[in-house]
Amino acid sequence: YEAKKNKNSFTSFSNKLRERMFDKIAIENELRNALERDEFWMLYQPQISADGTLHGVEALIRWKNEKLGMVSPELFIKIAEEIGIIHKIGDFVLQRSLEEIRSVKEKLDTSFHLSINISVEQLKEEGFVEKVINFIECAQCKKNEVTLEITETTFIEDVDSVLPILHEIRSHNIGLSLDDFGTGFSSLNILKRLPIDELKIDKSFVDNILDDNESLVLVKNIIHMGNELSMDTLAEGTENHMQVERLKSFGCKIFQGYYFSKPLTKDDLIAFIQNGCKTLQ
Ligand code: C2E
Ligand code: MG
Ligand code: MG
Ligand code: MG
Repeated sequence: YEAKKNKNSFTSFSNKLRERMFDKIAIENELRNALERDEFWMLYQPQISADGTLHGVEALIRWKNEKLGMVSPELFIKIAEEIGIIHKIGDFVLQRSLEEIRSVKEKLDTSFHLSINISVEQLKEEGFVEKVINFIECAQCKKNEVTLEITETTFIEDVDSVLPILHEIRSHNIGLSLDDFGTGFSSLNILKRLPIDELKIDKSFVDNILDDNESLVLVKNIIHMGNELSMDTLAEGTENHMQVERLKSFGCKIFQGYYFSKPLTKDDLIAFIQNGCKTLQ
């Protein structure tokens, strides 16, 4: 299609590729010192229960660099994994989000869950579970109010080496959520073996439930399966009232998305909770 549109498509394609490789090298270079330069911060996106109360928040990292501007985590997390610095960034995410959420809970005298995204490279790190427990204790948080989010694609390659770590995590009452559920290829067999508490239904399915019957059937069955297996089901990327009502009618327990709130700074999260989990106008 591109080739038909533009007779210079080959040159423009290779230019784009070169541009992208340049971007990647630039990101790699800047990423190596980003922690020292204090360029990361955390946002927290509310997760709302079917009854409208706050179930928890998902911690989402942000990066702004002097040369590159804002860079999406979708882009730089992958690169951080490749160049072997995801451990350091992951430690920052754990420590900073545990501390900030502890201070929010203390200030408002309330409790809720904190979900933290974890890369498979972190999971496989020697002593990872002890380290997490240590961070949780240092921040004076409760283990049963912390959930680690792991993506499905993580397990496909390597279920057998990751499984014991997941069991160890669960044995300490730390939660485990399967992120972007439905986008990978994990069979029900694998799902049955995973000590998971929560299924996070990927946004791509939620997007389509109102006008695509296939997505609707899929989401309905994921929710039923989750309920059957005593897992929480959380719909990510809910953007409107109709989606929420439809998902609720299927028995979905928790909702996360712009309909309720965008990811918030710690201070905006405090205001959001004080306002009864409603976005301030
Ligand atoms: P994810 O864990 O699946 O996070 C959900 C993403 O969807 C977030 O993008 C969030 O801002 C976005 N989102 C939530 N609700 C809506 C909505 O209603 N509409 C739309 N259009 N988007 C919505 P974000 O923050 O850019 O993060 C992208 C991905 O980067 C995350 O996907 C996660 O895989 C990764 N990531 C983010 N923070 C971290 C982190 O601290 N550590 C690790 N390892 N990965 C992270
Ligand atoms: Mg996530
Ligand atoms: Mg997700
Ligand atoms: Mg996703």
